[in-house]
Amino acid sequence: MNQEQIMALDNSLVWHPYSSIGSGLPVFPVASAQGVRLQLSDGRELIDGMSSWWCAIHGYNHPEMNLAIQEQLKQMSHVMFGGLTHQPAVELAAKLVEMTPQPLQTVFFADSGSVSVEVAMKMALQYWHSKGQPRKQRFLTIRNGYHGDTFGAMSVCDPVNGMHSIFSGAVAQQIFVDSPSCSFGKACSESDIAPMARELAEHHQQIAAVILEPIVQGAGGMRFYSADYLQQLRELCDSHGVLLILDEIATGFGRTGRMFACEHADISPDIMCVGKALTGGYMTLAATLTTREISETIADGEPGLFMHGPTFMANPLACSAGLASLRLLTDSPWHTRVSKIEISLYHGLEPCRELETVTDVRVLGAIGVVEMMEPVDMRTIQPALVEAGVWVRPFGRLIYLMPPYIMNDKDLNTLTAAVRDVINTIG
Ligand SMILES: *Cc1c(COP(=O)(O)O)cnc(C)c1O
Repeated sequence: MNQEQIMALDNSLVWHPYSSIGSGLPVFPVASAQGVRLQLSDGRELIDGMSSWWCAIHGYNHPEMNLAIQEQLKQMSHVMFGGLTHQPAVELAAKLVEMTPQPLQTVFFADSGSVSVEVAMKMALQYWHSKGQPRKQRFLTIRNGYHGDTFGAMSVCDPVNGMHSIFSGAVAQQIFVDSPSCSFGKACSESDIAPMARELAEHHQQIAAVILEPIVQGAGGMRFYSADYLQQLRELCDSHGVLLILDEIATGFGRTGRMFACEHADISPDIMCVGKALTGGYMTLAATLTTREISETIADGEPGLFMHGPTFMANPLACSAGLASLRLLTDSPWHTRVSKIEISLYHGLEPCRELETVTDVRVLGAIGVVEMMEPVDMRTIQPALVEAGVWVRPFGRLIYLMPPYIMNDKDLNTLTAAVRDVINTIG
C-alpha cells in the first residue's frame, strides 16, 4: 500500500484513541521504529518524545528484546492460564516481587493497565467481603486522576476532566477530594491533607480503598505532588482500616527517578498496579501486586477464589518481553540516565516559562511538562511538531515529554528545542 491508500482506509474505517471516524484530525503512518526514532512511511524520521505513552523505555527494535520474544515464539506464543502455568509467567512474577516494595508478594497478570485497575478494585472489595465487612464497597480518590477507560477505572478518574463525564450516570459513584496542592519536594500542611482525613474519618465504614497515582498524576493533568502527602495518607489509611491502592502504571519502572514513585515517600501500598513500561512497549501486559495478607484473606473467605480471569492472562510472549525488559532495566545505569534526562529537560524546557502563553514548566525524572494558558489546537501543533522532526503528542493545555531512557543529549536537545520553537511560533 502506498501512503495515500493507508491514510484513506484509516480515515474511513479505523478508530484511534479519543478520536472519531472521519474526524480529519492528523494521523501519520509509521513504517518502522529504531532506537529513539520513528520512521514515517514518507521517509521522515522523528525523535520520539513520548516513549509511545510511557512504554518504550529502551527505545524501539531493541536486539535483546527482539531475541527474547523470538526465543519464546519457538516454544509457544500462548496457552490458557487456567490450570496451566509456564516459566515466563513465574519468572516475571518473581522479578516483580523482587523489584517492588517488600510487602507486595503476589502477582495477578492482566492484559492492560485498565484491567489491572479493575482487578485491584475487585481485590479490595473481595478482601473486605472475606473479612465480613461487605459494606466497604466505595473508593476514595483525588481529583485530576486517571486510571483507565473501563467502567471501574472510569469511576475513579477525575469526574469532570477525566474524559468520561458523559458516562457519569452509568458508572459507580465514588468519593472525590481535591488533589493535593502541595507540590513535589515541598512539605504538606494540615490543610492539604484535611479533606482526605475528613472523608476517611466520616466514611471509612463504607470505603474499601483509597486509589491514586503516586507523586505524578498522568493523563488527568500531569501534576506532581508532595511525597509527604502520600506518607500522611498511608498513616490515615492504616488508622482507619482502609486499603491503599497505588496506580504505578505510568510512574513505575524508573520514570520519576525512583524505580517506583512510592519510593519517594518511602511507603508501600496494599495493592499496586503496573503496566505500560512493564514490557518496554513490546506487548500489552499489566499486573496487580498485593500482600500475602490480602491474598490469604481472599483465599480463606467466600467463595475462596478471586473472581477474575482474562483469556490472555499471563500470555507467554508478553511475559517473556516483560522479563527481558525488566532485566535490561535493572542491569542498566537507568538511574543515572534518568537523572541526566531530568537535567536536560530542565535546561531545555525552563526557558518556555518566559513565554506569555505558558503558565508553568515542571520536570521530574524523565518527565517534562509545559503547561499552556489555553488548550493547544491539535490541527496546527501536531503537524508543526512533526515538521520540526519530533514526535510529541500534546493534550489539552499540556505539551509534555517522556523520552526513552536511552536518548542521548544531542537528541534531547533537538527535542526540547523543537518544543520551544513550536510554542514560540504557534503557541
Ligand atoms: C495508561 C494508564 C492506565 C490505563 O492503562 P491502559 O493500558 O491504557 O488500559 C491506568 N492508569 C494510569 C496511571 C495510566 O497512566
